[in-house]
Amino acid sequence: MSETRNNLIGLDRDELRESLALAGVPENQQSMRCSQLWNWLYVRGVSDFSEMLNLSKDLRAELEKHFSIQRPEVVTEQISKDGTRKWLLRFGSDTPDSQSVEIETVFIPEPDRGTLCVSSQVGCSLTCTFCHTGTQKMVRNLTASEILAQVLIARDFLGDHPGQEGKSLTNIVMMGMGEPLFNFDNVKKALLIALDENGMAFSRRRITLSTSGVVPEIFRTGEEIGVGLAISLHATTDELRDVLVPINRKYPLEKLLEACRVYPTVSNTRRITFEYVMLDGVNDSIADARRLVQCLSGIPAKINLIPFNPWPGSNYECSSKKQIDRFANYLNDHGYVSPIRRPRGQDIMAACGQLKSESERAKRQSSLIQLKE
Ligand code: SAH
Ligand code: SF4
Repeated sequence: MSETRNNLIGLDRDELRESLALAGVPENQQSMRCSQLWNWLYVRGVSDFSEMLNLSKDLRAELEKHFSIQRPEVVTEQISKDGTRKWLLRFGSDTPDSQSVEIETVFIPEPDRGTLCVSSQVGCSLTCTFCHTGTQKMVRNLTASEILAQVLIARDFLGDHPGQEGKSLTNIVMMGMGEPLFNFDNVKKALLIALDENGMAFSRRRITLSTSGVVPEIFRTGEEIGVGLAISLHATTDELRDVLVPINRKYPLEKLLEACRVYPTVSNTRRITFEYVMLDGVNDSIADARRLVQCLSGIPAKINLIPFNPWPGSNYECSSKKQIDRFANYLNDHGYVSPIRRPRGQDIMAACGQLKSESERAKRQSSLIQLKE
């Protein structure tokens, strides 16, 4: 059966109520039904109307007729030897006229938490030279529904809904495929739903949005969403950042750092994370570390050093462990918490900057071609 019903996942409460009205729910019941549905969708995480036991059979049938709460198709699940899990999800395969797209979502378990790395776009319009996603053409923004579906799928697979014993997903990072601030409205809508205290109830401190530096939307992120901010800095001069993170040509370092200084929620207890990829001989000298400290002066900051994760065709090497340690020590000596991010899921190409859904498709196509021959 082709899918033409509207998906309820990703609607805010007003839209959900309007949808119920359209399905014929009487006005005096809409508010209660809306709360019940919200609970089923985001607390219990059900994916079938038939499981909504406190709704009458008739209402469930009516909802089923008009709406869908279907999950995207999980094309593959890969599990790394370190426990990291990556799902390749396909959206839109159930609609006859829209083209299906694929994205990746990664879950990183740690002893004290579980972090889901969520994608915001199919591909990326930016072309940071060290990032695999940057080599994939930008296809389209994900909808709020598709962003939230990544959290729901992860919870399904982890057995992390209430009453289940699974490994828990405690944190969300918008660090998957795409530049979240080029899809501000949908990302905002999805995150406000994830933050809703009668739904998924993530705390603002447990969600971090990473941007390559889309300056005009940085202030709005703090003001309108209020989640933690991470900046993909990677260089301390405009000359180098213009090459590594080309959006720097539009929003140079001075403007980016100024936006960080005035970020609404920033404080010593809510520091901005600066991500810094360690590229051998490119940005990893002690002179770079010194400039980094200068750049960040006046900003409550922590620095995340990311050893470069290679991908097929990449032109960079990761800095040596010794050099990364020297760099980190310099930053620590100058008062910055600067953990070195341990690469996770490298064996399944799930580490930072390795995501690219096109490659999966290409692989499948080539195996199909082999079959035909
Ligand atoms: N587009 C957003 C969020 C996604 S990228 C952004 O750029 O911030 C998440 C992080 O991984 C970014 O800091 C990015 O710069 C980094 N990254 C990209 N490619 C990488 C690679 N090959 N090795 C290590 N980190 C990488
Ligand atoms: Fe896009 Fe971020 Fe990769 Fe740059 S680092 S190409 S902004 S996903």
